[in-house]
Amino acid sequence: MEALGIEQYVPYVGEEMVAAVFQAARPLYGLRLLHVNSTFHGGGVAGMLHSLIPLMNDVGINADWSLLYGDPSLFQVTKKLHNALQGEPVELTDREVADYLRVNEAFARYSPLADHDIIIVHDPQPLPMIRYQQRVNPWVWRCHIDISTPHDLVWEALKPFILRYDGVVVSSEAFRKPDLPVDTHIIAPAIDPLSELNRELTTDELAKKLDQYKIPLDKPILVQVSRFDKWKDPLGVLEVFRRVREAVDCRLVMVGNMATDDPEGPQIFSQVQEQVQEMGDVHLITQTDALLVNALQRSAAVVMQLSRREGFGLTVSEALWKETPVVATNVGGIPQQVLHGQTGYLVEPGDYEGAAGLVTRLLQDPELRQRIGSQGREHVRQNFLMPRLLLDWLRVLVELA
Ligand code: UDP
Repeated sequence: MEALGIEQYVPYVGEEMVAAVFQAARPLYGLRLLHVNSTFHGGGVAGMLHSLIPLMNDVGINADWSLLYGDPSLFQVTKKLHNALQGEPVELTDREVADYLRVNEAFARYSPLADHDIIIVHDPQPLPMIRYQQRVNPWVWRCHIDISTPHDLVWEALKPFILRYDGVVVSSEAFRKPDLPVDTHIIAPAIDPLSELNRELTTDELAKKLDQYKIPLDKPILVQVSRFDKWKDPLGVLEVFRRVREAVDCRLVMVGNMATDDPEGPQIFSQVQEQVQEMGDVHLITQTDALLVNALQRSAAVVMQLSRREGFGLTVSEALWKETPVVATNVGGIPQQVLHGQTGYLVEPGDYEGAAGLVTRLLQDPELRQRIGSQGREHVRQNFLMPRLLLDWLRVLVELA
């Protein structure tokens, strides 16, 4: 974990923002804060914690990070819960529910929960831990998922745990639950302009990285960076690519690692692999390589993010930050980032024809790409960089502390 000082963000967000962060942190000096989630690698949550936790420490909080250790059977259950919260009807067996609760109970016993002043629990995996601890401190449930239309049975089953929390944080106003009488705060996620994923690259670094993965720049490149997950609609990306290449010769690069807490990844990946065999000009990459993602988001003519559901979609801000226009679906946190016609274009999920038309238009118009790209970067600079995320958290913590 890199130890970054908040002042290193001044060139991006200005001195006033950094001063506002220190001012907000003042009542919190020495606060012992624990973040709990279930994966160290893969997915946006772990990536954000890698940047946020050192910064919290930098401004005077004692922020720790604890990982709920899960075996594959636990993640089978929690992925089902994740799917159900995003609206898919799922059935859980009694055994699965028992496993979920058992792991949480065991983890609650040996975690240093009572040694911290505030606990932030990320996502559903460690949600029930709160049930197994004598309360001595405020707990916050930070839900990164789109919970606007959850599967009822699962929502009702999880609610008794959520009711125990002192606060809930979701990514978008659209995810606020009218049937949840717990203080709910909205905090949009953010990207770190200094991380390997987003930092500036020299022309040489960029060329070497693409060369390492044998990705030529002889044709415009379309990119989607996403875990291989049905909610990210990788097969839809292939469908759009098929249509676009009828008008413009181009390449598609799909980068997707598999998060350790997502057991569905390999199966979705093999479906994609099967379809790609006959297609040509499609590169599938499953290695985790932040610099590669960085290089691709910079080299792409257009980045796609065709998710069916999306908590926020950090990949969108990442691409916009690199001045690459984005064609994305109008779901979850994406419309906060993609302002239609200004920082990119929005389509409804499954509208492959519409997406292909917009991608084609961007490919054919370099000036449009440049204009949309630079507006995208400015929008991210003002709204979705790490210091703003830190400031939002500090304000919520002050209320709770
Ligand atoms: N990511 C990555 N390599 C991959 C796939 C994703 O580094 O192969 C990163 C991506 O750049 C982003 C995060 O993982 O920072 C994914 O966050 P997002 O909010 O887009 O989706 P999530 O996976 O959390 O649903």
